[in-house]
Amino acid sequence: MQDCIFCKIANHTLPSNPVFENDKVIAFYDLNPQAPVHILVIPKIHCPSLIDVSDNNIMKDLFDAVQTIVKEQNISDFRTVINTGKSSGQTVFHLHIHILAGRNLLWPPG
Ligand code: AMP
Ligand code: ZN
Repeated sequence: MQDCIFCKIANHTLPSNPVFENDKVIAFYDLNPQAPVHILVIPKIHCPSLIDVSDNNIMKDLFDAVQTIVKEQNISDFRTVINTGKSSGQTVFHLHIHILAGRNLLWPPG
């Protein structure tokens, strides 16, 4: 999608600090980290949010990537977050999973 920043990261027209990439998924460090480790995992195909996912393979590809990344980085304790909709805190309308780690994470979240 033309004006989507995460599509631009996925097709390498906007730079990112990448962590993982395969043909379906790319993962990169968040620009504004909320924890010592804050990684975003996105599908290369544009999909605005979780509610718009019609192909469950997308979710499998994303969570497979999450597993690979945390194993590669020796992260045992982490939180995955998918904000869906403005009032949940979603600001970029291209589906993404946050991986947060490296500090004690509060529950319930704010
Ligand atoms: P959300 O609020 O769940 O939509 O998450 C969007 C995340 O994308 C925020 O944590 C932002 O800091 C992050 N972000 C926005 N633009 C970029 C970018 N160009 N590179 C890396 N992270 C970004
Ligand atoms: Zn997009």
